[in-house]
Amino acid sequence: MSKQFILPAALIMMGSIAMKAQQQTVASPDGKLVVTVNNQPDGITYSVTYGEHDMLLPSALGVVANNDDFGKALTLKDSKTRTIDQTYQLRQAKATDIHYQANELTMSFASAKGFPMDIVFRVSNNDVAFRYQFAPKDGVACMTVTGEHTAFRLPAQTTTFICPQSGPMGGWMRTKPSYEEEYKPDAPLVAASAYGQGYTFPCLFRLGDDGWVMVSETGTHGQYVGCHLSDYDSTKGYTIAFPMEGESNGFGGTMAGMPLPSSTPWRTITVGTSLKPIVETTVAYDVVEPLYAPNYDYLPGRYTWSWLVWQDNSINYDDQVAFIDVAAAMGYEYCLVDACWDTNIGRERMERLSQYAQGKGVALMLWYNSNGAWNDAPQTPVHRMDKSAARRAEMAWMQRIGVKGIKVDFFGGDKQHTMQLYEDILTDANEFGLQVIFHGCTLPRGWERMFPNFVGSEAVLASENVYFSDYHARQEGFQLTMHPFCRNAVASMDWGGTIMNRYLSKDNQSRHRRFTSDTFEMAASIVNQCVIQCIAMQPNNLTDLPQFEKDFLKTVPTQWQETRFIDGYPGRYVVLARKSTQGWIVAALNGTDKPISLELPMPMGARQSVTVYDDAALKKGALWPESRMRTDKTDKNGNLKLTLQPCGGAIVK
Ligand code: CA
Repeated sequence: MSKQFILPAALIMMGSIAMKAQQQTVASPDGKLVVTVNNQPDGITYSVTYGEHDMLLPSALGVVANNDDFGKALTLKDSKTRTIDQTYQLRQAKATDIHYQANELTMSFASAKGFPMDIVFRVSNNDVAFRYQFAPKDGVACMTVTGEHTAFRLPAQTTTFICPQSGPMGGWMRTKPSYEEEYKPDAPLVAASAYGQGYTFPCLFRLGDDGWVMVSETGTHGQYVGCHLSDYDSTKGYTIAFPMEGESNGFGGTMAGMPLPSSTPWRTITVGTSLKPIVETTVAYDVVEPLYAPNYDYLPGRYTWSWLVWQDNSINYDDQVAFIDVAAAMGYEYCLVDACWDTNIGRERMERLSQYAQGKGVALMLWYNSNGAWNDAPQTPVHRMDKSAARRAEMAWMQRIGVKGIKVDFFGGDKQHTMQLYEDILTDANEFGLQVIFHGCTLPRGWERMFPNFVGSEAVLASENVYFSDYHARQEGFQLTMHPFCRNAVASMDWGGTIMNRYLSKDNQSRHRRFTSDTFEMAASIVNQCVIQCIAMQPNNLTDLPQFEKDFLKTVPTQWQETRFIDGYPGRYVVLARKSTQGWIVAALNGTDKPISLELPMPMGARQSVTVYDDAALKKGALWPESRMRTDKTDKNGNLKLTLQPCGGAIVK
């Protein structure tokens, strides 16, 4: 071969490498949502547009690992696209039959030291999900990710609806962080976080008139750490933050250890010009896979819970019988026995209690302390959920006596060993027919699909706070009109109870009052999504509530075929439609202190006769508006007029 032939061949090869575009785009099936990735020697970025609107400005990608920095000097080796069209079924979330269509772009890079990394983007009509994938090379079969470059830069006009991460080892018996802090609505982008630790997922942003963006993550279990967002940085935006060193009393690293090959969790960005895609998104479930098949038929339902109002003293045999009887009278499937049943009631009598419950068609769920060595929470049983042998023995006992669920409380944070503990509890529980609720815990990240016996998590400043203080009782309207747009939009939420007592006390007349109307509370049982829902009926409610309220509460569905956003604004009001085997039900909450009048499209269609539950205007001198039930009819366009009283609600079915 002569030199004349070699030179042109070399030039052609160089040309082909140079032509591998350093900028690539991937668009949604409808073409409106576009991700643009730009790889430069000093860093790799992505940006997100929706139609004409900039939703995310160029923001960094990549991770920092022990073997290399996977965020700079990356060489693009290959890229490919494919379309994804999947249907799947989900038992425990906002919809049952889900159709996921997306375009996927996989870009394959080599780091400066030659280690491979893929970045995978999936873009559906209103959701972007992306993750990093790593593979073994030259005998290197594990790596440790110590941090991420991954960032989210929002346009300057953005305001935030986000919840701060707490510091570690604070709060009740040093149990924080537990995702129980306060959301601030419409806050400035540059505001510092309350505890200097950034913000927990999910994070909702309003881009002025351009629309809404919700950022979260999904698919996290024992293979990675739970992440959150940093404080806002004027050049980088928000960046992915790893657990705090102090979590779990300082035990365990903040980094993620990964076998190779494997992937990070998905980071998700839901966008819309309205709040509809935010409320209806299923991206947390779309991009994950079940980790195992259900070993049992897990049943949805409602539960009673003595602890919420009767508190610690109620964990005795007789009071539990009273709450089992309430569940039976209401036709509810479950009764949750809270902490210290092992010492207050004892294991032998728990067996009798479970038999009594089953005789009434009610199954017990039992409380456990997750501890461990990560906090000082003294409630028992302890050391039954943190190690496999004790846990499996305990679960076998529960299965033998007919217990159907557990609530495990007081976890240690988001380090990898804690994420592994959640996974292990869920996996073991499936072998013993137990459904699982977590409290004092992290945000569940896709777990409804990954773990078929997962019910829901607290990870919210929940109803116990309505009991604890007048301040939080006053916040209930804000809280429950905030979560449909954020916390409960990405995962099931165990708010822990529609509360029908007007005073937060056993006698229903002492301590502080409830500030919401009865209709608000009933509607909240529909707005709050959790496949086993707490309806905190008290024994006295069987006689002191109007019959039509009790009748409604007996029929509350908890499993949804479909969810539709109708109207609302985070922290002010919300109107949702959910469909169950009983048909459509529309639930509306007003979290403000002013009446709100609306004329809204109903999913039942035009000229349909409907039953409406709402509140009459507050009478002078009255503390609560009178709740009422009436019939009405949708108009020729399918619309219905509703007036939501201050901290009131409406239900249409
Ligand atoms: Ca809690």
